[in-house]
Amino acid sequence: MKPHIVVLGGNFAGLGAAQKIRQYCGDSVRITVVDRKNFLMFIPNIPAEIFENRDPSRTLRMDLPGALEKDGIEFIQGEVQALDVESRTVEFLPNERPGSAAETLHYDYVVVAMGNRLAFDRIEGFAEHGHTCTDFYYGNRLRRYLHEEYRGGPIAIGSARFHQGDGTKDIRLYGGHAFPSAEAACEGPPVETMLAMATWLKQHGMGGPEKITIFTPAGLIAEDAGEEVVARLLDIASGMGFKYVNNGRDIARISGEGVELASGTSIDAELKIVFPDWVPHEFLRGLPISDSEGFVVTDVTMRNPRYPTVFAAGDAAAITVPKLGGIGHAEGDIVGRQIAKDMGRMQAEEADQPLEPVVYCIGDMGASQAFYIRSNSWFGGSEQVLKMGHVPYLLKMQYKNLFFKTHGKVPDWGLDVSRLLAEKIFAA
Ligand SMILES: Cc1cc2nc3c(=O)[nH]c(=O)nc-3n(C[C@H](O)[C@H](O)[C@H](O)COP(=O)(O)OP(=O)(O)OC[C@H]3O[C@@H](n4cnc5c(N)ncnc54)[C@H](O)[C@@H]3O)c2cc1C
Repeated sequence: MKPHIVVLGGNFAGLGAAQKIRQYCGDSVRITVVDRKNFLMFIPNIPAEIFENRDPSRTLRMDLPGALEKDGIEFIQGEVQALDVESRTVEFLPNERPGSAAETLHYDYVVVAMGNRLAFDRIEGFAEHGHTCTDFYYGNRLRRYLHEEYRGGPIAIGSARFHQGDGTKDIRLYGGHAFPSAEAACEGPPVETMLAMATWLKQHGMGGPEKITIFTPAGLIAEDAGEEVVARLLDIASGMGFKYVNNGRDIARISGEGVELASGTSIDAELKIVFPDWVPHEFLRGLPISDSEGFVVTDVTMRNPRYPTVFAAGDAAAITVPKLGGIGHAEGDIVGRQIAKDMGRMQAEEADQPLEPVVYCIGDMGASQAFYIRSNSWFGGSEQVLKMGHVPYLLKMQYKNLFFKTHGKVPDWGLDVSRLLAEKIFAA
């Protein structure tokens, strides 16, 4: 009987971890991925599809069982409902049709890669008055509003407050730097949406940046991208005419008239595009592997310190801050190496490379341009790179194409070539 590795979640972190486990462990393990849906949602490109008026559910969906089958990885479509780390079991509900009975799956190793709940349900007035671009449904709702109903009024874009939890308090990065704390889960998307929206307004003869207010709960928007990068971005944005509201603390309410922030500031807006709190799944809260909020605690090798057969990768892990797919991708690789070490397939020296998180983000700005950020200074590293222009846009689109073509196995050289092109050869 081969050890059974169960991966919970099959989007960026889950698919990546499962593929890396197979790559490094070969046929020494049996791998099962459980996800409530049978496709991968390519989330980072949803904003670009909205502005180009393309339905993201048609262009950004990748067949998951087919991708997994290429590596002999089993797939179960089911809703994970409980994880028992003492008996090493996962309870799930097969969800192709309603009425199924709950089933139990035994694991030798489990990888929690189920992302988070995006808590729109905690924002008063969101369903009636809010918009966003975090999934296909909301993306299409915003796309239709923008292209069919928008009357040309002011626009507010920003984030609710993030609650990080205490799961990172003992972690040191880049040779001893204490883990920073974030007040927003992921502010690349609001910055990207703001820039692309301004281009869209211009292209449609409806104004430009002066119509848009960007707000953040924090003192500095997208602070995880590094102070120099953000200072440059803010300089460019204020020069273009965007309005900026910081220290908003949280979104208190969305109404027909605009957004009310917990700081007391109100922003008048016809169109309200918001990003919520990233909240752990309810059943993870209170488990002995979880932190004060319910994020899964790991060390820098993505292993839970109390339960060494439990791993986490991607947004579900406490250490993944900000919540970025690029960080989840690196974590999936580390999980694969750690399990290969346990299987006797990799030497400790090669397997025990710690996570060194990097904010790596390419955001669409419209008109075939994009910004490119590669920075680790917030975590204690020394790099902060910001580039803007047509080459980052090409890279963003090509990355997606390469991802689909390789069924998620973007070769490392793909990232290296992107970096070379964006930073050295076509540096703007
Ligand atoms: C608009 C937008 C733009 C972004 N742009 C970038 C970017 O440019 N670069 C970047 O690095 N990151 C970006 N991100 C962040 C990135 O999308 C996330 O960090 C990434 O998707 C996290 O991957 P994950 O696999 O951990 O979680 P997810 O992608 O959330 O996947 C979780 C998976 O678990 C499954 N699941 C959840 N609960 C259950 C359950 N109970 N039972 C069964 N299955 C379950 C879900 O169906 C899903 O497939 C962006 C995010 C947004 C919203």
